[in-house]
Amino acid sequence: MAAQGALKEIIYERIGILLSLAEQALRNKDEAHAKRYVFLARKLSTRYNCRLSKKEKMRFCRKCGMPSVVGLNTAVRLRKRTKTAEYGCSCGAKAGFKY
Ligand SMILES: [Zn+2]
Repeated sequence: MAAQGALKEIIYERIGILLSLAEQALRNKDEAHAKRYVFLARKLSTRYNCRLSKKEKMRFCRKCGMPSVVGLNTAVRLRKRTKTAEYGCSCGAKAGFKY
């Protein structure tokens, strides 16, 4: 359905906007809003059955729901042997992404 495709485009755009808002909120040390924006973005993706892309998944922590900003609350370690970038959140959760 053509309308469905257009709807998904809008949803993905909104998710992108919400995630950048979340990052901005975190930079302004506004953790409550940062979490809220991430929550809304994730809720949108489940509500409209839009799978988050790898890039979008890298932008927040799955465990605590905080946006991941490298150099602020997230440390990146590269594992050469497994070719994985390990994103360590300040809450202790780690997420691996292939590169
Ligand atoms: Zn976390």
